[in-house]
Amino acid sequence: MTSVTATRADRLADRLAEREADVLLVTDPADLRWVTGYTGSNGVALVGERTRAFLTDFRYTTQAAEQVADFDRHLGESDLLGNIAERLPDGPVRLGFDQDTVTVKAHARLREVLPDRVELVPAGGLVRELRLVKDAGEQERIRAAAALADDALRTVLERGLAGRAEREIALDLEMEMRRRGAEALSFPPIVAAGEHGALPHAEPRDVAVPRDVLITIDWGARLDGYCSDCTRTFATGAVSDEAREVYALVQRAQAEALAAVRAGRTGRELDAVAREIIAAAGHDEHFGHGLGHGVGLEVHEGPRLSKLYPGEIAAGSVVTVEPGVYIPGRLGVRIEDLAIVTAEGTDVLTHLGKDLVEVG
Ligand code: ZN
Ligand code: ZN
Repeated sequence: MTSVTATRADRLADRLAEREADVLLVTDPADLRWVTGYTGSNGVALVGERTRAFLTDFRYTTQAAEQVADFDRHLGESDLLGNIAERLPDGPVRLGFDQDTVTVKAHARLREVLPDRVELVPAGGLVRELRLVKDAGEQERIRAAAALADDALRTVLERGLAGRAEREIALDLEMEMRRRGAEALSFPPIVAAGEHGALPHAEPRDVAVPRDVLITIDWGARLDGYCSDCTRTFATGAVSDEAREVYALVQRAQAEALAAVRAGRTGRELDAVAREIIAAAGHDEHFGHGLGHGVGLEVHEGPRLSKLYPGEIAAGSVVTVEPGVYIPGRLGVRIEDLAIVTAEGTDVLTHLGKDLVEVG
């Protein structure tokens, strides 16, 4: 049986001709993990029709020997880029590199150490394009990460929100995710109450959460390399009519946008579903980010549900649907679900309720 990583490397090799490359240099950590299985921080892979080479330094020798099964492993190399040339096929080689992640400095170094027979050609995004569609194993990892994160928040909510510092709630949530086996967080949790909720990327403060305000919590767990991402907004008591109206608006925009998601819709179309609802209520300028993003080995990856993404969303992509309304100095509401895109619609992975509930 062919392994997952052997199949991925074959698929990658099949696409090199599109970029007029013979061999691809893979350096981005998430790309490298996807192609080779390697989870360390320092390594490079070379993938061509007949080339499957992996290089890392002595610190990762044991780890790479366990994780990287389908590549010729060159372990203990101290100068990874300097040793690439001898792992390439003979004769003229067009070596593709990812111009989006290879730094100008690394590119200059490559040019310096590679012989003239090697031509460097930009081939950015090839691995990222393949990563857009998650296979069954990836989908199950993301599903498990989302279930773990849901469960952690339920426990945190049982302890209440009002009177605790935002930072303390964030730490509690982190601890509960880790206790359940999360290897890391997708990102540091956002816990933002009252007017602080008007900042989409608010950092938790050492300030007690008041009663009778909205509070937005955005969190995710990383499990077996894969991320989850979810947001819920709660009330800590009796909130204002304005808060209830904004909440109902975001809830409706989120439900309609989520219902519109299916394979073949474009990122732009889906973003417009939520944006039109929010704009019709006069809050166009209060929804300042895209509707959603892909989630996988990275918490923000392709595809994008945004007016800047005209591409179609494929079945097997895992995306968030997260409209928000942020009224500076007053309040913010965001509701975010994570879902696998299917031919018919979605398979939603986040299961906490979305009606406004009071958590004192
Ligand atoms: Zn989020
Ligand atoms: Zn998100």
